[in-house]
Amino acid sequence: MAGIYIHVPFCARRCTYCDFYFVTTAKSYAPFVRALCGEIGAYAGRYGSREPVSTVYFGGGTPSRLPLEDLNRILAEIEAGFDTSSLDEVTIEINPDDVDGAYLRGLKAMGFSRVSVGIQSFYESDLNFMNRSHTAEQASSVLDAVAETSFDSYSVDLIFALPNQPEEYWAANLERLASRPVPHISTYSLTVEARTPLARMVRDHEVQVVDEDSQAAQYRFAMDYLRGAGYEHYEISSFAQPGHRAVHNQAYWAHSNYLGFGPSAHSFWNERGRPQRWANIRNLNRYVGLLENRTDPVEFREVLDAETLANEHIMLRLRTTEGLSLETLESAYGIDLYDERVDDLAWLESESLIQPIRNDVVRLTEAGRTVCDMVTTKLMV
Ligand code: SF4
Repeated sequence: MAGIYIHVPFCARRCTYCDFYFVTTAKSYAPFVRALCGEIGAYAGRYGSREPVSTVYFGGGTPSRLPLEDLNRILAEIEAGFDTSSLDEVTIEINPDDVDGAYLRGLKAMGFSRVSVGIQSFYESDLNFMNRSHTAEQASSVLDAVAETSFDSYSVDLIFALPNQPEEYWAANLERLASRPVPHISTYSLTVEARTPLARMVRDHEVQVVDEDSQAAQYRFAMDYLRGAGYEHYEISSFAQPGHRAVHNQAYWAHSNYLGFGPSAHSFWNERGRPQRWANIRNLNRYVGLLENRTDPVEFREVLDAETLANEHIMLRLRTTEGLSLETLESAYGIDLYDERVDDLAWLESESLIQPIRNDVVRLTEAGRTVCDMVTTKLMV
C-alpha cells in the first residue's frame, strides 16, 4: 500500500519560523493545478498499477487556499490514475482564516476524511509574533466548524517554546484542545531554521530563543498533561485519542512507499531491492514550465544504500512508541545493533533514556523523548 502527498505551495503570508516552500501570490492557482494534474497523470502511467493507494495527504504551504473545484479536480486525477479502492484516509491541512462551514462541508463531500488545522496558539500575542494570518478568534471558531462537519478525524497543530510567552499560555493552549477533546494533537517546538525571518530576528538579538531546559520542561508538561487527558503519545510530536492515529504519517515512519507531487515534494519508492528517493524542483514557475514541456520536474534523485536505509529506519522507529525492533533491523538491513552498539545501548539504559530492552525492542523513555535526536545519533551505524 502506498501514500500520495500533494504539496500546495500557497500561503497568505510568511510565518516567521517557516522554511517550507511556498509563494504568497494567488495568481498562479490555475497553471499550478494544471501542472500538478499533469504530473499526477504522468506518474499514474508508471506507478498506478504497482500498489494500491491507502492514504492521500494535501500539505503545503496551505492547501485550503485552493478553491474547492481545484481540490476536486486534483482528487479526481488521483482516482483516475491510481487504485484508490482501499483508501483509508484523505487528509488536508487547513488554516483557520481560509475556511467556513460551507468550505468544510465541501471538503467532506468530495472525500476528505480528515483535516489538520494549523492553529499553533490561541493567543493573539503569539500569533502576531509568528506572523500567522489568522486571529485568536478565528482559531477558536474554526474548531467549532470542524467539529460540526463530522470528519472521521481531525488534528490540531500547536507550537511551544515561543519566546516571551507567559508561562501559563502553554498549559492553557493544551487545555483548550484536550477539553473538547480534539481527536489528534501535534506539538512542535519552535525551531530556528536558516534563512527565515526568525533566524534574522535571533541573529539581530531582537528575539532570544527559549533555552533547552525550558523547552524540555514544556514538552514534558505536554506529555504528562495529554496522557492524563486520555491521549496516546504514539510518536515524538503526535498525540491521539484511541483510534485517531494519523494513518498517512504512520506509513512514513514504517518506510512505506509514497509519491509526492507539487514543487519541492519528496518521494520514496522501494521496489525490487532498489530504494529510491527523489525531490521536485523548489520553484513554482519552473515546476509549471517543466510540466508544460512534459518534462519531469525532479531536481534530485538518489538510490539509497543499505546503510542509509538502516539509519533512516533507526531514526524513524525510535520516534514511535512501538520502538525499534533489533530483530527487524538485523533481518531487513543486516545490522546487529547489539553487536555494534552494545556500549551505547548500555549507557542509554543506565541514563534512563531508553527502557530496558524487552523482546529485542528499543523504546525511548520519557526523558529519552526530550533528546530523541541525540539518542538516534548514538545508535546510527
Ligand atoms: S502557513 Fe504554514 S507553510 Fe505557510 S508560511 Fe505559515 S507555517 Fe509556512
